[in-house]
Amino acid sequence: MVIEKRDRLSFKLFRVVLASACLVGVVLSGAQIAMDSLTSRQAIDEHAQKVLAMVRDPAIQAVYSLDREMAEQVIEGLFEDPSVRFASIGHPAEEMLASKQRVLNNTPYRWLTDKVFSPERSYKVSLYGKLPYNEYYGDLQIILDTAVYGSEFINRSAIIFTSGILRAMVMAIVLYMIFTWLVTRPLTRVAQSLAHINPDHPGGIKIPMIAGNEKNELGLWISTVNQLLESIERNNSKFQSAEANVRQHLSQYDFLTRLPNRIMLQRELQRMLTEARNKHHVAILCCGINDFKSINEQHSYKIGDDLLVEISSRLNDQYIPVLVGRLGGDQFAIILDKLQHPSEEAADLAQNIISKLKAPLDIKGRKITINATLGIVMFPEDGSNPEKLLQKAEQAMTLAKSRGNSFEFYDASIDSAIRQRKRLERELAEALTKGQLHLEFQPQINLLSNQVAGAEALLRWTHPEQGEISPDIFIPLAEKSDLIIEIGEWVLDQACAQLREWHLQGYSQLKMAVNLSATQLKQANISELVMHNLKKHQLPPHTLELEVTETGIMEDLQAAAVTLEAIKKSGVLLSLDDFGTGYSSLSYLRQLPFDKIKIDKSFVQEIIDNQDDSSIVRTIIQLGKSLNLPVIAEGIETAQHEDYLIQHGCQGGQGYFYCKPVPAEAFITYVKLCSPLSSISRDESLATPN
Ligand code: C2E
Ligand code: MG
Ligand code: MG
Repeated sequence: MVIEKRDRLSFKLFRVVLASACLVGVVLSGAQIAMDSLTSRQAIDEHAQKVLAMVRDPAIQAVYSLDREMAEQVIEGLFEDPSVRFASIGHPAEEMLASKQRVLNNTPYRWLTDKVFSPERSYKVSLYGKLPYNEYYGDLQIILDTAVYGSEFINRSAIIFTSGILRAMVMAIVLYMIFTWLVTRPLTRVAQSLAHINPDHPGGIKIPMIAGNEKNELGLWISTVNQLLESIERNNSKFQSAEANVRQHLSQYDFLTRLPNRIMLQRELQRMLTEARNKHHVAILCCGINDFKSINEQHSYKIGDDLLVEISSRLNDQYIPVLVGRLGGDQFAIILDKLQHPSEEAADLAQNIISKLKAPLDIKGRKITINATLGIVMFPEDGSNPEKLLQKAEQAMTLAKSRGNSFEFYDASIDSAIRQRKRLERELAEALTKGQLHLEFQPQINLLSNQVAGAEALLRWTHPEQGEISPDIFIPLAEKSDLIIEIGEWVLDQACAQLREWHLQGYSQLKMAVNLSATQLKQANISELVMHNLKKHQLPPHTLELEVTETGIMEDLQAAAVTLEAIKKSGVLLSLDDFGTGYSSLSYLRQLPFDKIKIDKSFVQEIIDNQDDSSIVRTIIQLGKSLNLPVIAEGIETAQHEDYLIQHGCQGGQGYFYCKPVPAEAFITYVKLCSPLSSISRDESLATPN
């Protein structure tokens, strides 16, 4: 914006200064002129006195001698002075000896000066004789015309007045220039800079400091304004980012439950899927509330809303980290990442959610019970598009609802496998009471003496419909439901009873190895249970061997060490099962009181063909030697396996090469055949197939 000259501050100042200077000039000049008028009046008086003094003596002479001629001469002399308008010499009581007068001067400013000095001024001096007579002779009187002095006075006044006004003007101009230079120009520049400031981005431009003004008020003003602009900018950006956050939050989160909404879920899911590609599995569960509509109708929509909030908090409260979002209405999505056993973990989570939501919800004093149904999709099996995966999960949920299932997998094969697994889980709970479990025994051979050192008790489940089910399938199921505690106790009891029977039959050198699950190891009373069995079956402690897997110990090394030490105290032997498949660290082997290491069968089976496996086996044997622990290899299937292991110093062996796990009678038959004198100790015909 351009400021008109007449509107400028400096011009205003100029006008004010000029007006006030003029006023002051007028007042001062007036005062000066007034003073001058007084001085002029004095000057007139002094002049009159001087004139009178000059002619006084001749006037005394003339009046003394009554010399009229002389008096007239004196009078004429006085009229030489242009200001003398009237002069007389004589005694007031007599006719004037001489007198003369002339008209007043007609000067242009007479009208003014007459007001100041009056038109004429009269002076009189008495004429006395010389001392000692001192006689009065008469008066000498003059009247002066003030116009002569008035003209001079007017001239001087004009000069005084003009110079006063001129001074005022010059001062105003100088002040105007100074003010323009010092204030108006810098202010104009500041104003121009201010005009360039973007209100949306006030900190973008700084008002430049005007040289020479750094320390004065203007400099202070500029730096304060700059600071102010910066803080406005900061506040603005804070406000904008807060606003953006709020807007983003509103667009990505459900307003009721504060859970991520469908858009956010899809985005997060996309990110998780990209990360999971070729690495791990992701499960997407869609959870719907059964008959939510009637809950709304029965209670109120407000209660329905509160219920959804409560449900969302229960969904969020899982034992494993999950991402929970609201798809809309009564549908939620739960995403489970980095799965090791994808379908099992997803099914477990679904089961957990169902039972968690089943517990009555307390909404404003009303107890409401709900049922949830879930649909499950798996990545990468069911697709890789987040939107489609969510749709499929919803479809699976709808299908589950229509079929009256509590959850269903989108993939029918996974679904049936999981369903079967769940059925097995239920059936396993009854297997023990229904007498479907039994033990088989696999010989453990002393490779140095070629004798049967003992047996490993291996649990078998003969399912009424499905026949033999592998422990690799049902043991993990039992471990998950803690059924393993009950089953484990039964196994230990059965194995000990069997060993006692063998001992009584005369095979007192035999040992029994019993597998101990990680869950059992966590049991507080496990060492008491072991001791109780030893006592119950009257077994020497060293004839019982407990096999523990690495993974079981590593979950809580400290606690495992305490339990193992307690068991060890009873004299029972401890062997580390499946060594090589887990952490296999020397340091924890040292810390724990093991008596034996069992090389996992996966290494033994490849011992001849796979260099890596053979070197692992050799290393484990070496490790055993250095820790002074005997090493037993499981899964020996051929004579080459045996030769290799013996050659490298392995002390014990177990495997189909000797005998498969067999019932107790078959085991004893095998033991009999393997007497030291017998060379048919490895008759495979005795090994009943698994
Ligand atoms: P494990 O303790 O490592 O048992 C050895 C497994 O290797 C047994 O499988 C056995 O049959 C198998 N095996 C032995 N020699 C050979 C061979 O030469 N070739 C092959 N391919 N396999 C051989 P099984 O009986 O199926 O048991 C599997 C796992 O189930 C066991 O591994 C053990 O961890 C668990 N298990 C079995 N019974 C029990 C039990 O009573 N309690 C607990 N907690 N776990 C048990
Ligand atoms: Mg074992
Ligand atoms: Mg093993």
